[in-house]
Amino acid sequence: KPASEKFVYDFAEGNKDLKELLGGKGANLAEMTNLGLPVPPGFTITTEACRRYLDSGAQPTALRDEVGSHLAALEQRMGKKLGQADDPLLVSVRSGAKFSMPGMMDTVLNIGLSDDSVHGLAGQAGDERFAWDSYRRLIQMFGETVLGIDGELFSGALEAARNRHDAASDVELSAEQLRELVEEFKGIVTRETGRDFPQEAREQMDLAVRAVFDSWNGARARLYRRQERIPHDLGTAVNICSMVFGNLGPDSGTGVAFTRDPASGQQGVYGDYLQNAQGEDVVAGIRNTVPLAELERLDKPSYDRLLDIMETLETHYKDLCDIEFTIERGTLWMLQTRVGKRTAAAAFRIATQLVDQGVIDEAEALQRVNGTQLAQLMFPRFASEARTDTIGRGIAASPGAAVGKAVFDSYTAIKWSRSGERVILVRRETNPDDLDGMLAAEGILTSRGGKTSHAAVVARGMGKTCVCGAEELEVDTKRRQLTTAAGTVVEEGDTLSIDGSSGRVYLGEVPVVPSPVVEYFEGRTHAGADDADELVRAVHRIMAYADRMRRLRVRANADNAEDALRARRFGAQGIGLCRTEHMFLGERREMVERLILADTGSERDSALTGLLPQQRQDFVELFEAMDGLPVTVRLLDPPLHEFLPDITELSVRVALAESRQDHNENDLRLLQAVHRLHEQNPMLGLRGVRLGLVIPGLFTMQVRAIAEAAAERRVASGGDPRVEIMIPLVGTVQELELVRDDAERVIAEVEETYGTELHLALGTMIELPRAALTADQIAESADFFSFGTNDLTQTVWGFSRDDVEASFFTAYLEKGIFGVSPFETIDKDGVGSLVRDAVRAGRATRPDLKLGVCGEHGGDPESVHFFHEAGLDYVSCSPFRIPVARLEAGRAAA
Ligand code: PEP
Ligand code: MG
Repeated sequence: KPASEKFVYDFAEGNKDLKELLGGKGANLAEMTNLGLPVPPGFTITTEACRRYLDSGAQPTALRDEVGSHLAALEQRMGKKLGQADDPLLVSVRSGAKFSMPGMMDTVLNIGLSDDSVHGLAGQAGDERFAWDSYRRLIQMFGETVLGIDGELFSGALEAARNRHDAASDVELSAEQLRELVEEFKGIVTRETGRDFPQEAREQMDLAVRAVFDSWNGARARLYRRQERIPHDLGTAVNICSMVFGNLGPDSGTGVAFTRDPASGQQGVYGDYLQNAQGEDVVAGIRNTVPLAELERLDKPSYDRLLDIMETLETHYKDLCDIEFTIERGTLWMLQTRVGKRTAAAAFRIATQLVDQGVIDEAEALQRVNGTQLAQLMFPRFASEARTDTIGRGIAASPGAAVGKAVFDSYTAIKWSRSGERVILVRRETNPDDLDGMLAAEGILTSRGGKTSHAAVVARGMGKTCVCGAEELEVDTKRRQLTTAAGTVVEEGDTLSIDGSSGRVYLGEVPVVPSPVVEYFEGRTHAGADDADELVRAVHRIMAYADRMRRLRVRANADNAEDALRARRFGAQGIGLCRTEHMFLGERREMVERLILADTGSERDSALTGLLPQQRQDFVELFEAMDGLPVTVRLLDPPLHEFLPDITELSVRVALAESRQDHNENDLRLLQAVHRLHEQNPMLGLRGVRLGLVIPGLFTMQVRAIAEAAAERRVASGGDPRVEIMIPLVGTVQELELVRDDAERVIAEVEETYGTELHLALGTMIELPRAALTADQIAESADFFSFGTNDLTQTVWGFSRDDVEASFFTAYLEKGIFGVSPFETIDKDGVGSLVRDAVRAGRATRPDLKLGVCGEHGGDPESVHFFHEAGLDYVSCSPFRIPVARLEAGRAAA
């Protein structure tokens, strides 16, 4: 049969690399089977069968037959038939998608039990009680998950039975009492569904399989996939596994285990065990488990065997594994394993431990961690992790630790923060009107919405701590209070602490400590010190692997010496973007105003002459901080109106003055200028290279300041400035040529004056589609390209980068149009394809063309991999993201 027509795989036919087809659980059951580990025999129905069923609404006809023949083979092997009256084969039916997913139907155990076969099971096991207990579990699980009956009806009846019979736990109910309960459960099924509980074993199995398929499209599963960006068309596999019983008496039981501590990475015996129980008892927390180490005392042979198997699994998977197992009358069975989830800190520790043990090499170690985890480790955190005064828990939407007074509307957030208070903005959910309040707050807490809610998306964009969807908190914005599940009322002004990495919410102030990883990058602690944190040592080593491995260089976006120095400490190999407009703020704004208002050439020249020494000094400091490393200085980019007062404020001021007949000449001229410069679409207006071409002397002044600063550093201080001048928003090579000619003239003059050669490079940003499309021509006149993927994304998509995140992106994310904002992660198909083509075209013209990126994407993990593949020379990002970019560049090359 062609692979796609084969819908069922025996466990012995699969392997761990077939997760797409067999789901994670099925692929790993197959792998364990083939490793010779004790897995109860069974088979897996593929995700392809599920997809076909979901597409057509009916199970493929071939599937029924194929399941039939696999079942027959299983029956033969086990020497008994499914549901056979005197000695029934029982099976479990369990879902298993490629990614584990809450909200999907999970497991139905004991399929094959009926009014007849329950007696057979009792006879075979020599245990009446066990048989009736298994039957009542089947009806309960089947009723809840397959037939969709409210679970409370069953658990309520069970509790009533316990009370009636004075039983402290289920184990104390007798066979007879359980038999009565089974009757009661069957009554619930008939009453709730209008049908009797199905007695035919194959029908039970088929209904359960169908319920697993259907659960793929359950509301909670769909929501989870949207939030986690898992495609909706993967489908789930179904595992049918012969039952083994952990509830056959004290020599039976069930448990979970980890091959190492998922929190610290330490090797050892971690897990929980529950005697005389089936799996769901552990998960449901109905009875208390004992630490796994206790098993040694309870059943030494099984314990030793388990430890043996754990070692086999770790050696085989070369990683931390988590395991579910069952012991049936002294025989150990493996029910599941997978490479286990772990905390960010444990990921770094485990990766280096495995290198030390010789299990993996450095390249593989880099694949075991990622930049998102490193970023998590760089946030400040709350001092103690095991606090008990949690008042609620929501979704960890944007990391960090924030403390402040609770406020319930944006207006109060702004007012209080202006008067110096730290506030946490608490809302049921946020909307675009809350933007200013969110900006003013230390953190944001909402009771509704998931990872793609407005609050979550916007907070992540702002780098604000956010916990969203804390549903057990009742937020009442009218009364300005929130009520916890326990009934505690938090009033406006009470202090809250929220942990955006765990989603926990605390009442009162929890002390915040800086991240030890940041302390290390800052050079305040050393990985080699005797008392160095183990995590810091692990990060230090992993960063060294990444630096050895990577081809991409990493630069910083930095505009002043302080940021440049920090960037250097964090490992920056230069500056990829110095935005000179940031040097025109504060008191210099006035000089820029004079420049804009200048009516005559001499007025303009005098404004420029005033700016020149200031600019020069900025550059001297910057070049000193980055001595010996490249610094890309970008000439002025933003529309000039950004340097002028707000039009409404100014109009009001002028109108008020007029009414008082108090004439302010300057304000009037300013207002005229504001009107003159007003544009409907300033981002597509007079900015970037266009400014340089229409305002005489502006770029000339900047180039002169840069060249003189470089000359001063070289001649007066014996420094080694490596300066690159970058022209923004170029759309055609003619623009670049004009600016270039003028710049070369100025540079030659400065070189002449100082008697030195400066070797200044002149290049351009590629941030307009036309520039990308004509990159071959533009490269004629450019020593380097730096992709401005912020503007390139804005212009390729036609999305306003300043507005969309707050307006329709939430809806777009919810609808799955894209899984992540294209301003956050590069859109490979659209924007990315322009980048790839421009790289090729640019290098065709000029093979030594230097290529980098300085948009926000330069520090985004997924985008860094793209830039590596596209063949850029470097990425440039904000100083705090440099370690993440270094790590991801290493991972991309490993
Ligand atoms: C860009 O557009 O990607 C860029 C780096 O420039 P700016 O963000 O300053 O517009
Ligand atoms: Mg730009």
